[in-house]
Amino acid sequence: MLDLAITGGQVVTPQGAGHWDIGIQGERIVSVALPGTLEKAGRTIDARGKVVVPGGVEPHTHLAHFISMHPDEDNHTLGPEDDTRGMVFGGTTTHVDFCFVRPGTSVQQAIEQRAARWKGNSYADYSFHVALQGQLAIPVFDQLQDAIAEGFPSFKVFTVNVLPPHPRRHPYRLDFGRIKLAMEKVAQHGGIMVVHAEDEDLVQFNYEKFREEKRSEGWLLPEVHTKLSEKLAFRRTITLAEATGAGVYFVHTSAREGVEAVGEARAKGLPIYAETLHHYACFTADDYRTPRGFCYHTYPSLKFADDQAALWEGLLRDGVSTTATDEFPTSLELKLRGQDLENVTGGNLGAEARMGIVWSEGVQKRGMSLERFVCVTSANAAKILGFWPKKGALVPGADADVVLIDPSIRKTLQKSDFHVSDYSPWEGWNVQGWPVTTILRGKVVVADGKLFGSTSDGRLVTRKIDPVVLRRTSA
Ligand SMILES: [Zn+2]
Repeated sequence: MLDLAITGGQVVTPQGAGHWDIGIQGERIVSVALPGTLEKAGRTIDARGKVVVPGGVEPHTHLAHFISMHPDEDNHTLGPEDDTRGMVFGGTTTHVDFCFVRPGTSVQQAIEQRAARWKGNSYADYSFHVALQGQLAIPVFDQLQDAIAEGFPSFKVFTVNVLPPHPRRHPYRLDFGRIKLAMEKVAQHGGIMVVHAEDEDLVQFNYEKFREEKRSEGWLLPEVHTKLSEKLAFRRTITLAEATGAGVYFVHTSAREGVEAVGEARAKGLPIYAETLHHYACFTADDYRTPRGFCYHTYPSLKFADDQAALWEGLLRDGVSTTATDEFPTSLELKLRGQDLENVTGGNLGAEARMGIVWSEGVQKRGMSLERFVCVTSANAAKILGFWPKKGALVPGADADVVLIDPSIRKTLQKSDFHVSDYSPWEGWNVQGWPVTTILRGKVVVADGKLFGSTSDGRLVTRKIDPVVLRRTSA
């Protein structure tokens, strides 16, 4: 007898969408079968009228993270015990956060410290990118091989010190020499680079220039974190990747220039992948001037309508592989505390809304196929970061992470639709379709607007990237 059956829904599998029933035994999917052919189940969920997709994979979060925009205060973003509650309400069952390796820390220590913080504190499954920051000693890079072997194959680097030089903050940037060394290691041992790519010289010069001119308004952000900066840094990174044989996953692509650079690399068959944020696809730099404008901000910056067109083109067809949030949950007061170039708070709040917004804006409004929706909300992130096919696929043998979307829901989102912090940037946004049921490894964690999950449900998931994903364009 099955533990759980999901019947009557339109199911999106890697082979296409159709009407199938899903059988679940314990934590795994054991069958995807013709309607009415499953054996008996202890519990059956009627999915008629719903679209059944894999649980969302959120590839980019910063939970329990020091808020370095205000370095003189000891503030942190909300932790997994708060933020992942929203994720499971919104259909996301797996997220990838970061552990930070700075001079004096080993990779192993960084992973262990974060894993201890998450254990017993997450409603959703999780893993960590290993972030390499600052003047790391060269022997540290020998530790990458072990991290990959232990199931942590993605390494985050910044080509830029994202924030302005005033006030002083710990350095984010890794120099291109060290990035090249990291690329050599990942190419050799089966890892991938996760790159925040902006041009250090242009960005830091722009901060200096605006300071000199005594222009400090936060809405100048796209003139500091410019389209040209994205173009230079993406192309420089791709050139280095091609020379070393490394795969690259560009986080939060914001501009047409980034999409084009990635598109050219993919046309050559290189293993280059772009992420964008649903915030970047839906808000523009004009929104900075609205009363709550900075609640839509994260770095690099919101851009312009033409950039959004390129991002949607990439999401709908090819070239932008994933949607992420760059989740950085704070209170509204903290998020809006700084409104100037030098103290505006980066990061978004919207992991909960990601699946619903991409559904509504992509599938309903722009004709995104159901298969492509699954690619950009779970499957591609699972492939690129090494969860596949355990996560991101409704196939026998996969973890039973399943989400039901009700495409008939029409509503204007309100604060009461969300379960994290005291605001959502998506309040007032009109949607059609929204996730209604979330299943994590066979356990119904959200249904009928109620939470049945707990912070002891989420588990650390080790990863291994399919070598094909690292050899040529694959997702
Ligand atoms: Zn980030």
